Amino acid sequence: MPFPVLAPLLFVLGLCVGSFLNVVIARVPQGRSVVRPGSACPRCGKPIAWFDNIPLLSYAVLRARCRHCGEPISLRYPLVELVTGLLFVLAAWELGSGLHLVAGLTLIAGLIAITAIDLDCQLIPDVISLPGIVLGFILSAIAGRPGWLESLIGILVGGGLFFVIIVASRGGMGGGDMKLGAMIGAFLGWKLVLVTLVLSSVVGSGIGLIVIAIRKGGMKYALPYGTFLALGALVASLAGEAIVNWYVGLY
Ligand SMILES: [Zn+2]
Repeated sequence: MPFPVLAPLLFVLGLCVGSFLNVVIARVPQGRSVVRPGSACPRCGKPIAWFDNIPLLSYAVLRARCRHCGEPISLRYPLVELVTGLLFVLAAWELGSGLHLVAGLTLIAGLIAITAIDLDCQLIPDVISLPGIVLGFILSAIAGRPGWLESLIGILVGGGLFFVIIVASRGGMGGGDMKLGAMIGAFLGWKLVLVTLVLSSVVGSGIGLIVIAIRKGGMKYALPYGTFLALGALVASLAGEAIVNWYVGLY
């Protein structure tokens, strides 16, 4: 399918997926079902009607407030929807169409949920990362990109490197990061999981240094490393092959 036809379809699909991700982000850390009950206002408890639950549009029409009680609606909701829509279009541009794109969209959706939950609650839920490892392996195998062997090695490299870091740092990093590393490896293969680790470390230490400088040496601020890992994986999934080719071209 040509990009001009695919792009608007994927933007709308991304908005709808983003709307569902908002439910995942709010409920998964609390162990609640993402299917039932339907969304309700957290203050007045009134159910949110379908026409008040249209991605982006309802937020604008309602002027960021609950129709019934006027409770402000967090900017996070339209933001997650918009980011998902834009990244889905970008994925189609970078990854073409077919199963490789399906794998890319699945990874992007998972990474957006993990980023938001890690920022919010400093945890990476197993209910996303563990099925993500299996799904990533299956999609990589069927799509033939990066292929089952690259994916399998990716799982071992992504998970294994974090295992070593966790043991060496004696708890400086959590098991959640290890499972996320394995999930990224499953989707992207071992080369791009290495690219992810480099990108996330560079960005993570850069932001860490800024935070420490601003707080004048206060090391207490816990940086959720999973967030940087997920952001690194987003960049690697979209631009990773270009980065690998550039790196190889240096020699
Ligand atoms: Zn309300």
